[in-house]
Amino acid sequence: MVFKNKKLAIITGGTRGIGLACAKILAKNGYNLAICSRNLGDLKKTSDKLKKNFNIYCYYKKIDVSKVNQIDLFVKSVFKKFQRIDVLINNAGIQLNKKFELIDINDYQKVINNNLLSYYFFSNFVGRYMIKKKDGIIINISSVLSKFPLVGRSLYSISKAGVDSLTRSTAIEWAKYNIICNSINPGHIETDLIRRDLKKGLIKMSDMKRRTLISKLGNVENISNFVHYLIKYKSQYQTGQNYFIDGGFSIKK
Ligand code: NAP
Repeated sequence: MVFKNKKLAIITGGTRGIGLACAKILAKNGYNLAICSRNLGDLKKTSDKLKKNFNIYCYYKKIDVSKVNQIDLFVKSVFKKFQRIDVLINNAGIQLNKKFELIDINDYQKVINNNLLSYYFFSNFVGRYMIKKKDGIIINISSVLSKFPLVGRSLYSISKAGVDSLTRSTAIEWAKYNIICNSINPGHIETDLIRRDLKKGLIKMSDMKRRTLISKLGNVENISNFVHYLIKYKSQYQTGQNYFIDGGFSIKK
């Protein structure tokens, strides 16, 4: 198997924003990658660029992470190809900015399935391989809103609170298999996720800046550098934690 000499990281939603930044830093550090999203064109473009710039292999597959059967098939196909999975970064997620009283069951299922069910089953399926190998790193991209919700983000906030709890459960269940799991909880990071809501007038740049101690948004590298740190300096003493990288959002009064 030609790919066996390099470690393999799965990054859900590795085509844009935080996921893409994680893909770049891991590729730069010699990891082969497996990425997924709902847009085949973006996947192909991203994979080609990563291969060309970093001389790695980047496998991709178009899937919807809110569908459990598609997660299952993707994870199986990754293992079949690489015969190993060293790192899982649960990252693909969506935002919903809507008043609590207006949310219906379709909104609920969409956000919870995208943001929580997907993380749960990616970890479950990938974990089976990591357990056999007695080695693995899982990083869940959560949000500062998991603990500090904002008006209009009830669903998003509860989905991310679930992610924080999933992080602790994963760490507790699998510590004995040398698998560590931590979450990173970003504050406002300049990506499409935010640009879309800014365009629609659902959020204001001035509000986002005001919530930090340093009056500015974060960038994707602020998150991907920390992801890389957690992977590079894997220590079993550092597990089950929720790391807030938020420019001080979580401590500002
Ligand atoms: P983004 O720029 O919108 O990128 C999201 C990525 O996830 C894209 O690759 C997208 O691809 C993929 N994706 C979304 N839904 C998917 C689905 N159902 N199936 C497959 N792929 C899917 O978002 P981002 O800002 O980088 O956010 C990444 C993570 O960070 C999310 O979990 C988000 O909640 C979290 N976060 C972001 C911020 C922030 O301020 N940006 C703050 C806190 C936490 P397609 O749309 O093409 O499928």
